Amino acid sequence: ATPTALMVGVGRGGQLGILIKGPDALEASGRIDTVVLDKTGTLTTGRMALERTVVAADGPLADEDAVLAVAAAIERRSEHPIARAVTDAADARGLAVPGLGAQLRTLSPAADAGTSAAGDNVRSDAGGAYDAGGAYDAGGAYDAGDAYDAGDAYDAGDAYVVTEAAALPGQGARGLLVRSGDAVPGGESTEEVMIGTPELMAQIGAIVPDDIARALEAAADEGRTGVVLAIGGRVAGALVVSDRIKDSAAEAVARLRAMGLHTVLLTGDHERAARAVGDSVGVDEVIAGVLPTDKVATIERLQAAGRRVAMVGDGINDAAALATANLGLAVVTGTDVAMKSADIILVRKNLQVVPDSIALSRRTLRTIR
Ligand code: ADP
Ligand code: MG
Repeated sequence: ATPTALMVGVGRGGQLGILIKGPDALEASGRIDTVVLDKTGTLTTGRMALERTVVAADGPLADEDAVLAVAAAIERRSEHPIARAVTDAADARGLAVPGLGAQLRTLSPAADAGTSAAGDNVRSDAGGAYDAGGAYDAGGAYDAGDAYDAGDAYDAGDAYVVTEAAALPGQGARGLLVRSGDAVPGGESTEEVMIGTPELMAQIGAIVPDDIARALEAAADEGRTGVVLAIGGRVAGALVVSDRIKDSAAEAVARLRAMGLHTVLLTGDHERAARAVGDSVGVDEVIAGVLPTDKVATIERLQAAGRRVAMVGDGINDAAALATANLGLAVVTGTDVAMKSADIILVRKNLQVVPDSIALSRRTLRTIR
């Protein structure tokens, strides 16, 4: 190979918004036969918006604001677009967890996790936290037939903080909701808060009630992503977010296919949301519900089948896959780690930059041969 021609190709890429890290990357780019595209932030804009908040009818939180406040508190440490959508919406409404006391219906003790039964959903302080002018509205959650447990006091005066918030890559986020107050046994109680996929809920043994399952179905039918919030193993609600497919996505995929490349959409999102995007942009194959660690295995499986794979991603939950692929292309809206893991950085928002870069590499290799 003539290094000069390769360097000319690298230079030409720079003019097109295609930052090729060196001659090797350009050579690899000219030889790939499969293009794997991440969904969120790659085929879509990745700027998600919160569409709705759904409160579980028999859950531990009384209203949308409470669901959103708790969700946002544990999402603050995640850089996922869903986390951004949730925290932005909470900020816009001025919601914060310390103000939560007045919005709580109940919190079950950890021993109750997942075993919430009908008639056991509303609890109050035997000393009278429930009062006619209080947090429960007439049509709402209070039911004379419910059992009240003095050991599990609801008290608007209690203080709440969320600690140890952390992202669970490809699944959601978690944190601890710490409640302190005179009515709390031992002065303080802690419950685990989780937000994320229905699979994550299954892992912690949280049962998704029918009303929330229906909300998730409705979201999936719209091609939107619904995530579930649970406190102490009890489902509190769902949050539905929307993303927008990039205007350039369908044309870019069509061009890749016209170049003889096999196109694959790879995502951690659930099957139906993934299909909706896949059908709309016209990829050959959709691989959904894949955890970040399994994205690497998916690339390796394609390679083991003899494919030379390019991976296009933004580095959020796919940096390792970018590094594993024969060629990693990072879209510039992504993370620093994506820039480090990739062989080629795409600094144009228009997805045509993907077929452009492969076409450039092929042309350059042809001039060499
Ligand atoms: P993608 O492959 O589309 O980029 P991810 O692998 O980042 O998706 O995430 C997969 C799924 O995990 C998301 O669709 C969402 O359901 C869930 N998830 C990931 N991160 C979060 C988060 N911070 N909050 C809530 N849900 C999340
Ligand atoms: Mg992504």
